[in-house]
Amino acid sequence: MLVKTFLGGKRKGVPGHEEIELALIELYRLTNKSSYLELAEEFINRRGKISNFKIYILNQYLNMGYIIKLAKKKNLEHEKEVKGKDISSIQKSEVAEFVSGLTIKHFIRIIRENFNGNFIQSNKPVRSIFEPVGHAVRAMYLYCGMADLYSETGEDALLKSLRRIWLKMYKARMYITGGIGSERSTEGFRKDFALGNRDSYSETCAAIGNMMWNWRMLQITGNCKYADLIEKLLYNAMLVGQSIDGKKYTYDNPLISHGKDERKEWFLCACCPPNVARTISSLGQCIYSTSEKGIWVHQYIGNAMNINFCSNLIKINQISHFPWKGKVEIHLNLSKSQKFSIFLRIPNWSIDAELKVNGIKHSNGLSKGKYVEILRNWLDNDIILLTFKMKPNLIESDPRIKDNRGRAAISYGPLIYCLEQKDNKKFDIFKTIIPRNQEFIVKFKPELLGGINIITGKNSNNEIFIAIPYFAWSNRGADKMQIWHKSI
Ligand SMILES: [Zn+2]
Repeated sequence: MLVKTFLGGKRKGVPGHEEIELALIELYRLTNKSSYLELAEEFINRRGKISNFKIYILNQYLNMGYIIKLAKKKNLEHEKEVKGKDISSIQKSEVAEFVSGLTIKHFIRIIRENFNGNFIQSNKPVRSIFEPVGHAVRAMYLYCGMADLYSETGEDALLKSLRRIWLKMYKARMYITGGIGSERSTEGFRKDFALGNRDSYSETCAAIGNMMWNWRMLQITGNCKYADLIEKLLYNAMLVGQSIDGKKYTYDNPLISHGKDERKEWFLCACCPPNVARTISSLGQCIYSTSEKGIWVHQYIGNAMNINFCSNLIKINQISHFPWKGKVEIHLNLSKSQKFSIFLRIPNWSIDAELKVNGIKHSNGLSKGKYVEILRNWLDNDIILLTFKMKPNLIESDPRIKDNRGRAAISYGPLIYCLEQKDNKKFDIFKTIIPRNQEFIVKFKPELLGGINIITGKNSNNEIFIAIPYFAWSNRGADKMQIWHKSI
């Protein structure tokens, strides 16, 4: 039906929320029907080329009123059926909450971003893009579609564009947590370094979309920076989206809370909860991949995996102590001995990485932010041992971020930490100052928040502070929280 309706310019326009592009390419891969790939390419190519765009977008919104009305009615009926309760009051309060947070400045931005094409990434043809714009989730799904299209066609202009966008996002439009979207009204990107902590929308779905895009970039290039970012997103911007007990969620994720933010069971637009569930249950897909040379280990997550490589069944058993300790053991079971390479990621945060194969030290090529290649004749029962020294760091903010001048955040391995007021009752976390010159202490607390490492240190008044991983905040009721602290 999609092909019949849209292929060959039968109906103009672009998908308002990109996602169908990557689905069509997936369908093409499964069926080998070229029309699916052609339609995905056509949708991607149309962006930024719609004539009379302002009139086009106005018409879209005029039509949308009717569609929303229908969808809301359906959604409401469905909810009543599933949950046995009327959720219309929840929906009304969410809309009221969203709208009450908007000022005239926000409304002007919404109108401007819609009519200049930014909001739906239709401001420029995709091969001329050099920065991420508009609604962050939509942007991520478009870039996934573009990466998939590159994988099928090998068209260099697409990859060049993706590399430019990624760099801009990474250097100037992404929070320390990996969250993206610093404009709450459009749930999207703003200009460079406009990364206000309260403004952080950092939708959970945007973190997931970013993981999906980085996975594609990793498969295309083999560049470690994409796997490093997947790890950051996984432990911070994505994981914060679900409560420790798995029952409550966040939709947007600020980097500071004044004590009024609480997780919810359900949302008017319930995209994030199932997206988190889907991502966590399919995490196994982002740990390994293979190339002609061998097996790549991208993430250190405990797992057992069978990989067929050159007609050899290789059973991998990975025992990982991440993110609490930087120790990883990889046990190999091979149906026959074989010469091939194993590529292991040395994370960009790692200090003093150590690698042993069957107890023998391997020190060549251990550079952080790169893969180390071990080429050898692998035998049944070989064991790889990796150790990354994890220690708390105080990271200074880029001074171009106005909110964070003179401030620093605490990190430990791949985790970003925050202070929650309930752990620090003797002082106001917003006023406390954390001196740089001090030794922080890391302690595993099995009874706290499902078992976490806390970090303790002293503030400028010599009082002890306790920091917890950002993903674990807002699990004990609403309270004040912040990531960036005054620092001297
Ligand atoms: Zn979402």
